[in-house]
Amino acid sequence: MRIDILTAVPEQFRSPVETSILKRAVAKGLVSIHIHDLREFGFGNYRQIDDSPYGGGAGMVLMVEPIAAAIRKLQSERKYEEVIYFSPDGVKLNQAVCNKLSMKENLLLIAGHYKGVDQRVRDLFVTQEISIGDYVLSGGELPALVLTDAIVRLIPGVLGDETSALSDSFQDQILEPPIYTRPADFEGNTVPPILLSGNFMEIEKWRDQEAEEKTRKLRPDLLDLDEGGKE
Ligand code: SAH
Repeated sequence: MRIDILTAVPEQFRSPVETSILKRAVAKGLVSIHIHDLREFGFGNYRQIDDSPYGGGAGMVLMVEPIAAAIRKLQSERKYEEVIYFSPDGVKLNQAVCNKLSMKENLLLIAGHYKGVDQRVRDLFVTQEISIGDYVLSGGELPALVLTDAIVRLIPGVLGDETSALSDSFQDQILEPPIYTRPADFEGNTVPPILLSGNFMEIEKWRDQEAEEKTRKLRPDLLDLDEGGKE
C-alpha cells in the first residue's frame, strides 16, 4: 500500500512515521508513506497557500489552487482509489471504515489547516470526508496519522502476531476482554485463576464471556449494531 499525505505542516509527521509500528511496516516494505509539503505548491516568494475568506469572517482558508496543483501532480503519477479530506463534519471514523481502507493500493490524504480548505477542493477532488470525532483540532495532521496508524496495522504482516489485529476491540463489534501479564499477584490483586489453568478451551470461553459482558456494560450500542447489521 502507498499513502500520500498533503499537509501545510510536514514536520508533524516525522516522529510518528519514524517510530514503532509505522516504521516497522515501512521497513518491511508493506507500506510506503509520502509526505508532501503544500507550500511547495504555494504562490510567489512567500509560497502563499492561504487567504482570507470571501464574505469576511475570522481565520484563513487554504486556497484551492495550490491543493489542486498538488493533487493533479500526484494523480498524474498514479491512480488513487480514495482522496480523503479530514474534517469535523465528515463521516465519523470507525473500525469498519479502517478495514475497508486497509485493502486499498493508493490513498491520498489531505490535511486541512486554519479554517479549513476552500469548498471547491472538497467538491472537485475529494472522494471521502472523515472526522475523527466531535471536537475541533488545529489541523488534519493528527487525524491523518490516526487513520494511517489504524489502517497500516491491519495490513497482513505488519503486526508481529498475525491474529492480534483481528482480536482487537471493535472487530466483530466486541470489545477486548481484560488482559494480564506477570506477576500473577500484584500487591494481593491476583490474575483470574482460569488464565493460569492451561485449559485453552476454557480460557477462550472465559474471554468470550468477559468480552461480551464488558461490551454490554460499556458499549451496548455495538451489540445493537451487530444484531441490526454492521456499519
Ligand atoms: N472550520 C472548521 C474546522 C477547521 S479545523 C469547522 O468548523 O468545521 C482545521 C482543520 O483541522 C480542518 O480543516 C480539518 O482538516 C482538521 N480537523 C479538525 N478537527 C477535526 C476532526 N475532528 N476530524 C478530522 N479533521 C479535523
